[in-house]
Amino acid sequence: MKVLEDRIREEGLILSDTVLKVDSFLNHQVDTALALEIGREFARRFADKPITKVLTIEASGIQFAMAVGIALQVPFVYAKKKKAVTQSEQVYSASVHSFTRQETYQVTISKNYLGPEDKVLIVDDFLATGAALVGLVQIVSEAGAELAGVGCVIEKGFQEGRGLLEQMNVSVESLATISKMAPGEIYFQEPAKV
Ligand code: 5GP
Repeated sequence: MKVLEDRIREEGLILSDTVLKVDSFLNHQVDTALALEIGREFARRFADKPITKVLTIEASGIQFAMAVGIALQVPFVYAKKKKAVTQSEQVYSASVHSFTRQETYQVTISKNYLGPEDKVLIVDDFLATGAALVGLVQIVSEAGAELAGVGCVIEKGFQEGRGLLEQMNVSVESLATISKMAPGEIYFQEPAKV
């Protein structure tokens, strides 16, 4: 997605060979018009799939899952990282190791909001090691729901996430795929068509 690649080039801060900071428009302050455009693009790419629910993980996937949900006119559900006192119902859970925080946590989704009747599109901001998305794929499978695919806004193609998901026969769509980066330079896998 050209507009996204342009913003990453203009505003992305490359903190190391593996970490990109996009806090000015995606991860902290959110450009709402761009988020809605991202939602429409995911909806277009998965238009042939009868999706009933969008799934993500808190916090940074929420704005994109909401944007896709608006475009597809379906609800979105986000996995929670901490069990709240209000969460008394049965949950699906998966263990996820965070690449950016270097810690392992349990993510949970209430059984009330995901079940065998659902066709799910999983969405997240970044695909890096794939741990977060693999955790969500496991939850979809535990729920007996059907997985339509995974959409990520930015994929770091030099990390192992896509390989892991493809080994699980998951179809992955990324809107910007970085093939290589280092402070001061960034390369995308192929020029964006849209
Ligand atoms: P993964 O589980 O694929 O390793 O990473 C997933 C999560 O880590 C993403 O949802 C994102 O929040 C965070 N993440 C991974 N790599 C980066 C990065 O380079 N920059 C930022 N801002 N977040 C990242």
